[in-house]
Amino acid sequence: MAINLSIVDEKVRNPRVPLTELEQSAFCQVEPLETKPLAEELNAGVRWQRLPDSYVNMTPEELTTRIEANKVQLGSRAVILGHHYQREDIIQFADFRGDSLKLSQYAADQQGSEFIIFCGVHFMAETAAVLGGAHQKVVLPNINAGCSMADMAPTDDALDCWDDLMTTLGTGSVIPVTYMNSTAEIKALVGENGGAVCTSSNADRVVAWAFQQGKRVLFLPDQHLGRNTGAKMGVPLDEMVLWNPFQPLGGNTAEALEQSKMILWKGHCSVHTRFTTDQIARARQEYPDVQVIVHPECMLESVQEADYVGSTELIVKMVSESAPGSVWAIGTEINLVSRLAHENPDKTVFCLDPVVCPCSTMYRIHPAYLLWVTDELLAGRVPNQVSVAPETAHYAKVALDRMLSLS
Ligand code: SF4
Repeated sequence: MAINLSIVDEKVRNPRVPLTELEQSAFCQVEPLETKPLAEELNAGVRWQRLPDSYVNMTPEELTTRIEANKVQLGSRAVILGHHYQREDIIQFADFRGDSLKLSQYAADQQGSEFIIFCGVHFMAETAAVLGGAHQKVVLPNINAGCSMADMAPTDDALDCWDDLMTTLGTGSVIPVTYMNSTAEIKALVGENGGAVCTSSNADRVVAWAFQQGKRVLFLPDQHLGRNTGAKMGVPLDEMVLWNPFQPLGGNTAEALEQSKMILWKGHCSVHTRFTTDQIARARQEYPDVQVIVHPECMLESVQEADYVGSTELIVKMVSESAPGSVWAIGTEINLVSRLAHENPDKTVFCLDPVVCPCSTMYRIHPAYLLWVTDELLAGRVPNQVSVAPETAHYAKVALDRMLSLS
């Protein structure tokens, strides 16, 4: 992917909020989540991929029976991957569950499977396509299951940012690092320019490596993971500047950029920024023995108030391995928290946020979509295949491989 190094114009752009972000609270409610026929969920007010009418009114029980039968028929030709944030009615069919990197690596190991049905969001399916074999086809059951955080870093804006930084600070002065939760094109931009991907569990290792290569790091697209990582590594807050893509020089002066150690892209996860210090205080008041664990996509003040901060995988491990009777208040996606509560009946496990607010893009993988894609595959058609252009895939893999070489 050739990078255009022409100087960008200086005008302020109109801020664009991704549609996925506007739709993020669509499924928030006070009751526990329960799968309903898709016809009822369609009222949530988000973009859904259209499905033939016959799928829309099926009950969850009918859907379960038919997906089970399709899974048997597909056998080892298809592997179903379920991200931790998927609803239970999807996870029950997953051959493997995990975070985005684990799932993509698992997909790459399943060379005997022709189809990877990725029950997650779009950037995850892209990563599986980049890491998977040429003969494997990656299918995302609902093509509108994106990620609002990834959508906050469109390629053109990131290219403009990179051009501005090279013009202002000079070549070799910035190493780009992108969180796994970014598009393949952003990963490619990073790979082509000497940088690496990171996950929420290895961000400090990757950022430390980046500091060894250059003077400062451009961290995309999650400002909070970037800031939490920098703070953990001892980078002063005033040496971490925010890059607002709608402002000239990201809203910074050239001097501030010169003095910075980290340049944080102004993106966030709407699910994890819901967790607040007030919620943590309430949990401590109600349960004096509570242990609070939050995801590093949460805001710095919440991370600082928590007892532990950890990736999805670490949260699962710590809660699962804790002593009976332990009390856990968790700051991460509700479907995972509910599953942990269910799987650990000898412990008290609850979500910091009293409002039940799932990731609305993950939640778009309704079982009707899983049934539809398995029906299509059995009929000899490949629906919703996610693929990545060869040059983009090449450089995205460079960035992924750099991260893996540090593990
Ligand atoms: S939880 Fe946040 S980062 Fe993860 S897929 Fe949803 S919006 Fe994206």
